[in-house]
Amino acid sequence: MSFHVVVIGGGTGGLSLAHGLCKAGVSVAVYERQRVRTDRLQGFRLQVNPEGSRSLRECLPDDLWEEFIGYCGEPDGDTVLTDVQLNEIMRVGAPPPAHDNPIGVPRAISRTTLQRLLSSGLDGVVRYDKEFVHYERQSDGRVRCHFADGTTTTADLVVGADGGNSRVREQLLPRAERVNTGIFSTGGKFPLTPETVELLPRRLTEGPNAALASHACGIFTMPFWHSRPDEEDYITWSYSTSASFHPPRSAEMDGEEIKDVVGRLMTGWHPALRRVVAESDPRSAIVLPIYTAKRVRPWRTENVTVLGDAIHSMTPFMGAGANTAIRDAALLTGNLVAVHSGQRELLDAVRDYEAKMLEYGFTMVRASLALANMFVSESWLLRDVVKSTAKALSLIPPLKRKLLTP
Ligand SMILES: Cc1cc2nc3c(=O)[nH]c(=O)nc-3n(C[C@H](O)[C@H](O)[C@H](O)COP(=O)(O)OP(=O)(O)OC[C@H]3O[C@@H](n4cnc5c(N)ncnc54)[C@H](O)[C@@H]3O)c2cc1C
Repeated sequence: MSFHVVVIGGGTGGLSLAHGLCKAGVSVAVYERQRVRTDRLQGFRLQVNPEGSRSLRECLPDDLWEEFIGYCGEPDGDTVLTDVQLNEIMRVGAPPPAHDNPIGVPRAISRTTLQRLLSSGLDGVVRYDKEFVHYERQSDGRVRCHFADGTTTTADLVVGADGGNSRVREQLLPRAERVNTGIFSTGGKFPLTPETVELLPRRLTEGPNAALASHACGIFTMPFWHSRPDEEDYITWSYSTSASFHPPRSAEMDGEEIKDVVGRLMTGWHPALRRVVAESDPRSAIVLPIYTAKRVRPWRTENVTVLGDAIHSMTPFMGAGANTAIRDAALLTGNLVAVHSGQRELLDAVRDYEAKMLEYGFTMVRASLALANMFVSESWLLRDVVKSTAKALSLIPPLKRKLLTP
C-alpha cells in the first residue's frame, strides 16, 4: 500500500524514524522548526544503551551505522555508588570491550555529532524552519498540518516527534500531562587534560560514579574519553536536589553563579568532587528543572500518533529518554513497513505500536522517576536503606548481577 508519513520534529526519534522509513521505500517528510539545535544540552554527550543501539541499527543505512560506531567513545568503566567522601558502597562491573559487539554495550556519543549523522542522507526529506502549529482532519480522512509560516502539508499518517512540549500531543491528547518533579539538576563539564587527570582520584576518571549524600542530594560524574582526536575529553557532572535546596531564581543564574551555589551545597564533601564542580567550564554550566510525563491511558487509535519525549518524557536519571525514542522509531518503522508491503492495515499497525510503546515507555518513566526521587530523597531512613541494600548486594555478586542486569 502506498501512503505518506509526515513527522513533526527532527530530533533523535523523528530522524531515526525518517531513516527507517526511507530505507524501506516508505514516503516520508520531516518538518523541523529549527535549522540548528540551540539548546545547551547539545554540548553534552548522550549515553546510548544496547536497546538504543539495536534500534538505531535497524533504522540507519549501513554507512551511517558504521559512522555512528566510529564516533562512539569506548564503553564505560565500572559504575560505582559511593558516599560523598568517595567511600565505595557498590560497584557494577564494566561491560566487555566493544570491538566484537558494537550493539551489546552502552556507548556515548556527542549530541551534536549524533544530530549531524541523523540529519545526513535525508536530503529533500527534512524541511527546516517549519514550526508546526496544529492539524485538521480532511473529509477524505487524510490529515492536514499547518505551519507558522502559513504553509500546509497533507499526510496519511502524522507522527508527533516534537519533544516534551509537543503540540501534536497537546491536540491529540489534551489531558496528557507533563509535570515538574520539583527536582533541580545542575550540570557542567570539567576538562580532562594530562594535568587535570593528575588532580583527581582514578575513581572519577575511570568510570561513572554516583555519590549519594546522607540528605536530599547527590552528584553523578561520568568521564568521557575521546574516540577521535577532534573531540575533547571531559567529566560531566550533574548535581541533583529538590527545589527547596536551590535558590528561588536558580533558573536564571549564569555559569559562575551556578558553580558557586553548587559548591556551597557541597561543603565538606570530598575535595575531588568539589574540584570537578569548581574548575568546570562556566560556559558549560546549566540548571534544569526536571519534568516527567504522567501515565497516559490508551486512546482510540487514529492516523495521528506520537513518539519519544512527545509522549513519555522522563527524568534523565537513567539516561534512557533518547534510547526509548529510538526504540519507538524502530518499532513504528517495522509496523509501517508491513503496511507498505500489504501485510497490515495502517490503523492496525499504529494501534499495535501505541500499545507496546505505552507499556515499555511508561515503565521507563516510572523507573527513572523512582531513581530520581531516591537520589534527592530527604528521608534519612530511605537513604540508609538504599546504601545498606547496595552494600549487601556487593557481598553477593550473583544476586547483584541478577538484579542489575536488564
Ligand atoms: C540532562 C539530560 C541528560 C540526558 N541524557 C540522556 C542520555 O544520556 N541518554 C538518553 O537516552 N537520553 C538522555 N536524555 C533524554 C533525551 O535528551 C531525550 O529523551 C531525547 O532527546 C528525546 O528525543 P525526541 O526525539 O523525542 O525529542 P527531541 O530530541 O527533543 O526532538 C524534538 C524535536 O522537535 C522539534 N520541535 C519541537 N516543537 C516543534 C514544532 N512545533 N514544530 C516543528 N518542530 C518542533 C524540536 O526543535 C526538536 O528538534 C537526557 C535529558 C536531559 C535533560
